[in-house]
Amino acid sequence: MTLRIYNTLSRTKEDFRPLDPANVRMYVCGPTVYDFAHIGNARPAIVFDVLFRLLRHLYGEAHVTYVRNITDVDDKINARALRDYPGVPLNDAIRRVTETTYQQYQKDVTALGCLPPTVQPRATEHIKGMTEMISTLIKRGHAYEAAGEVLFDVASMPDYGRLSQRKLEDQQAGARIAVDAHKKNPGDFVLWKQSTPDEPGWDSPWGRGRPGWHIECSVMSKAHLGEVFDIHGGGLDLIFPHHENEIAQSRCAHGTDVMARYWMHNGFLQVEGQKMSKSLGNFTTIAEVLAQWPGAVARYNMLRTHYRQPIDWTVASLEDSQKVLRDWKQGVEGVAAAAPDAECVEALSDDLNTHAAFTRLHALAKAGEWAALKGSLLLIGLDLDAANLGEEKPVAVDEVKVNTLVAARLEARKAKNFAESDRIRDELLALGILIKDVKDKATGEIKTEWEVRR
Ligand code: AMP
Ligand code: ZN
Repeated sequence: MTLRIYNTLSRTKEDFRPLDPANVRMYVCGPTVYDFAHIGNARPAIVFDVLFRLLRHLYGEAHVTYVRNITDVDDKINARALRDYPGVPLNDAIRRVTETTYQQYQKDVTALGCLPPTVQPRATEHIKGMTEMISTLIKRGHAYEAAGEVLFDVASMPDYGRLSQRKLEDQQAGARIAVDAHKKNPGDFVLWKQSTPDEPGWDSPWGRGRPGWHIECSVMSKAHLGEVFDIHGGGLDLIFPHHENEIAQSRCAHGTDVMARYWMHNGFLQVEGQKMSKSLGNFTTIAEVLAQWPGAVARYNMLRTHYRQPIDWTVASLEDSQKVLRDWKQGVEGVAAAAPDAECVEALSDDLNTHAAFTRLHALAKAGEWAALKGSLLLIGLDLDAANLGEEKPVAVDEVKVNTLVAARLEARKAKNFAESDRIRDELLALGILIKDVKDKATGEIKTEWEVRR
């Protein structure tokens, strides 16, 4: 079975051919640890976890290396440290911010059924590698020092913009932002910047300073996966500038044609048609979601939509997901898992078509093939034995509405309009309400009692 992957570099689905089948290598940009992650941030974690599991299934567990970094150098982190820990020495405050956020992230994604990646490097562990790569870029004529910064010279790379399909000329012509006077080109980006004494910093040939965001990933991927590796992933918003700039740095430093051979990007998780993001303030944290829903339900719900499509995160869809998993859990409980179903693996191998995989799983459930269903669910990271799917949630009841309908039905009955009274009875039933007519012994009057159907 050939794995096929939609490659953002070529904008086509391609057969996946690893450089070394004995060590398939994947890098995914991880969280910047300054604040709790929202459920949109969980999408790449879950999607690339499914790919990690599929690669392990196809190539063998020992033959896949998955690196997901932790960005623990960032100006947003500094700001948060100053805000949350006034009076605490900055380095200690930063460590507290990054440590708490990192621990919470681990807890969140574990509850969502994600395996720990093979390596989770931190940017702060790789500063030396960054200053080395920056020196190389300067030596090779791809970077320059100006106004206390080291900048990448985008004009020095003939095919800069290939991933995002932006031409340098277009960028220049379209640039509305005032060109920073020290930059040769508005697209030149920071590799290193000087720190003031009250900012975090490391010694370097360009003074005490800190790295730019993009160089972190170029250095961490090189350290753990080499100069050229197989798959690089992240959300759609990272294509430009982050991934474009990672490619520029790595290729120019190493003199290679590509950085990663397959670039994969997940679509956005949306709320009412808008991307969920911290800056828009329309976010729900993963922890908030997990307080209301089992991790398996959130995971299944995330994977119902193909990873490249936008996904609308709604309660209705979560409820539906919960129902499906409850049904499946009843079937697979106490059953020994068989190997994952071949059609399910085939669907996943078609550019992670989880939607088609679930269609197949529904068919397996219908046919009562529980052992195959269980094995397939495990491959996708849905362990229903371990999942606490809770009791059937009580149906939310609008009592005023129910009482109004009950009274209207009784009126219709009294008027001998049985068609209408039956219609209202069905309407109540659809709301999950069961009714019973009882005669009041004292007065002989008919009264209606109702209860919520379980
Ligand atoms: P950030 O912490 O914002 O750098 O994001 C971490 C990861 O989550 C990146 O891969 C982003 O592309 C991804 N991401 C951020 N917001 C969303 C969203 N609303 N839907 C899907 N992925 C997202
Ligand atoms: Zn990155």
